Amino acid sequence: MRKKAALKEALVQVVIWIGLARATRMLLWRDRVAILLYHDPDPATLDRHLTYLSKFCDLVPFDDFSRPGTGRPRAAITLDDGHAGNADLLPVFIKHEVRPTIFLCSRIVGRPRMHWWMHPGAERAGLERLKRQPNDTRVAELEEAGFRQDGDDEATGLTISQIKAMRPFVDFQSHTRFHPILTCCNDTECADEIALSKHEVEALVKRPCEHFAFPNGNYGPREIELVKAAGYRTARTCDIGWNDERTDPFRLRAMIIGDKASTALLAVQLTGIPRLLKYWLRSGRWDGRFPQF
Ligand SMILES: [Zn+2]
Repeated sequence: MRKKAALKEALVQVVIWIGLARATRMLLWRDRVAILLYHDPDPATLDRHLTYLSKFCDLVPFDDFSRPGTGRPRAAITLDDGHAGNADLLPVFIKHEVRPTIFLCSRIVGRPRMHWWMHPGAERAGLERLKRQPNDTRVAELEEAGFRQDGDDEATGLTISQIKAMRPFVDFQSHTRFHPILTCCNDTECADEIALSKHEVEALVKRPCEHFAFPNGNYGPREIELVKAAGYRTARTCDIGWNDERTDPFRLRAMIIGDKASTALLAVQLTGIPRLLKYWLRSGRWDGRFPQF
């Protein structure tokens, strides 16, 4: 009897979410661009996601938001950090004729270095607490825990040859040099992370680097001014929402998708509602803005 009730409840949830997914698609997504944000999905999961998305939306390049709508929902695929596992996704991108954008940390990829939060010392020191420290304090604490951000160790990012192989099918753009929390950096650190990473990505991929993604979604007026001054054309945030030609190109909104999400969960995450609730619980605001610190 209890099993039957649970099944009934699950069915009700499915019906509610199918309704919400359709409603957000018709009322909010419409023919705008949802910029999906992944990190390190496995090929089978991404393949399932892209198959699902292709049924009702056009898969477009990242900067398509500035073009007039086609009457159909559009989705752009972005992946943050330049994880080594992204190289395995190449056959999936080719199969679905998707040109994704990968935001690289220019001083982590292409060498035997780790993304700082993946080091066991960072976990021990407390990730969320570390993120809120002034940048020099965070770097010093990590050194005490046995991690140097400019020291070579184990590679967690894409290698030079992987980037080269992916270059015909992928747009590589900037996600800073070392992935600090920019709002915790001093002015010089912040300006260097934003401007120097642009030149380093350009040297790495031999193409213009024109787009930027804020690490962890942290930004303020100073960061936006520095992104503009460095010569980028856009910046992607972790604020929730859809984009069109009226969206501020330096505050592009995203839909954060779980790397391991089932297709049902993907449909739920595409409504933006779970993330909206999460942000609201943290900040008390309903506007979908990432709770800054
Ligand atoms: Zn990141």
